[in-house]
Amino acid sequence: MAKIVDEFLKEPRIAYFSMEIGIQSNIPTYSGGLGVLAGDTIKSAADLKLPMVAVTLLTKKGYFRQDIDAYGRQHELPDDFNPSDFMTQLPERVSISIEGRDVFICGWLYIVRSETGGSVPIIFLDTDLSENTEQDRQITQYLYGGDNAYRFKQEMVLGIGGTRLLYEIGFLIKKFHMNEGHSSLLTVELLRMYKKDIEEVWDERLVWNAEKVRSLCVFTTHTPVSAGHDKFSYDLVKNIFTEPVPLSVLQEYSGSEQLNMTKLALNLSNYVNGVAKKHGEVSKSMFPGYEIHAITNGVHSYTWTSEPFKQLFNKYFPGWANEPAMLVRVERIPADEIWEAHQKAKRNLIDYINRETNVELNYDTFTIGFARRATAYKRADLLFQDIKRLCKIGEGRIQIVYGGKAHPKDEQGKQLIQKIHEIKEKIKDKIKIVYVKNYNMDIALKIVSGVDIWLNTPLRPLEASGTSGMKASHNGVPNFSVLDGWWLEGHIEGCTGWSIGPVDISADPNKDAEDLYYKLEKIILPLYYKDRENWIKVMQNAISKNAYFFNSHRMMRRYVTEAYIR
Ligand SMILES: *Cc1c(COP(=O)(O)O)cnc(C)c1O
Repeated sequence: MAKIVDEFLKEPRIAYFSMEIGIQSNIPTYSGGLGVLAGDTIKSAADLKLPMVAVTLLTKKGYFRQDIDAYGRQHELPDDFNPSDFMTQLPERVSISIEGRDVFICGWLYIVRSETGGSVPIIFLDTDLSENTEQDRQITQYLYGGDNAYRFKQEMVLGIGGTRLLYEIGFLIKKFHMNEGHSSLLTVELLRMYKKDIEEVWDERLVWNAEKVRSLCVFTTHTPVSAGHDKFSYDLVKNIFTEPVPLSVLQEYSGSEQLNMTKLALNLSNYVNGVAKKHGEVSKSMFPGYEIHAITNGVHSYTWTSEPFKQLFNKYFPGWANEPAMLVRVERIPADEIWEAHQKAKRNLIDYINRETNVELNYDTFTIGFARRATAYKRADLLFQDIKRLCKIGEGRIQIVYGGKAHPKDEQGKQLIQKIHEIKEKIKDKIKIVYVKNYNMDIALKIVSGVDIWLNTPLRPLEASGTSGMKASHNGVPNFSVLDGWWLEGHIEGCTGWSIGPVDISADPNKDAEDLYYKLEKIILPLYYKDRENWIKVMQNAISKNAYFFNSHRMMRRYVTEAYIR
């Protein structure tokens, strides 16, 4: 019997490594934007018939399911899923040495199939095997859980184990693409594989063929602050990492003081990029001396377009899903059909919320959406800088939909959720606010397509790209956002949406809030309520000037021409 992976072993592939991958809501192996981007990347690769294979951790207990109590406190519940509902366990086993023990790893095969006939396999790595100790069986259970040692073991399984398993299964690999630094230990495995014989070279150090490894590796960095990059002390590393190269070699490429996963990837890749133009520049100043390019992120158009807009796009632009640039001619769609599609998406969201919560939202009230990971720099509470003023502007005229999980250890993120709940109670007679529980990909699509405007208020320059605003654009929902990440490229004032605050990196929150209130009161609400015709023009521009460009098909074509074929 032919093995099910055989169809993927014939031609050399790009191996795409990511700590998290978000393909669909009921495979909860993602926490936020990074994982969803990885899923969108793979879906576009399948649509475009690119030869790719993706590798990630199985994290069978998922990230977590979020519950929020009456006081606004987040509770984390397990989000188990049963891999065999979606995937097939492969028979191959490899081992890596952790703390001197052999830890065995197997892979689960999931196949992303596109309607174009293309497909991309994803290998989910799993250490939950009877050959392993109880402790080692836990390594691939929790996404971003555990302590530093746990995290380092996960990154060994991902980088080293993942590479070994690909070869063991029989994949031919022409490039390794590291989506963020978590997987950069794969470079170390490649150093081991391409090690030269001492007889071949005149200097002992030259046995490590870094040039060869570089020629195989592509690295995408996502984090614009150095504190956000994974680093491990060599005291910790020494105990765990007992192969495949001597510590001194590891130190040469990943830093002498600490093992810096980003540095390791930077030193052993010949193509490095940030995820938006500005982020490319920020990364260059963080890592002087490296050539860092920029490929601005995109979202998978078909995944992130609501049913009503899918139908509309199918009618006017057959084939749009595999060529989203067609959306540039959105003016072919009559304004009333755009409006009707949006109203359908909005009713769908509001019906969901009114079923799930005790807040009764209205179909006709201007609805602001804000949903993403709850973490300090995203400033979910900027809208409440001056509550009195917000109420004065918005009483009876706005309603607000929030959503988002805080990492279990992120106390500030949890406090933000609590604060929003307190304010929600306090002003409920003036402005209706709802916090939708357990933000995931399904809920994300409902919210980004069902609100009237998409709000984003990150602290600059911490939003490397951001992608939820691109999803909103696909549904004709304009952005109202601080100028950071992708919005610096997508923003045309009053045309595709509106900016908040100045471009300065260190903008004062009061200035940002002032601009937010001013534009909401004087420009946005009047346009929405009193000049529907021009409001719909902004909706159309969101599609024709933002969705047409900020999609993962355009992004993947750039990765192919600039990073993969080199
Ligand atoms: C798109 C998406 C994100 C990313 O949102 P940003 O606003 O870009 O941070 C996070 N979580 C989920 C579930 C998403 O679908």
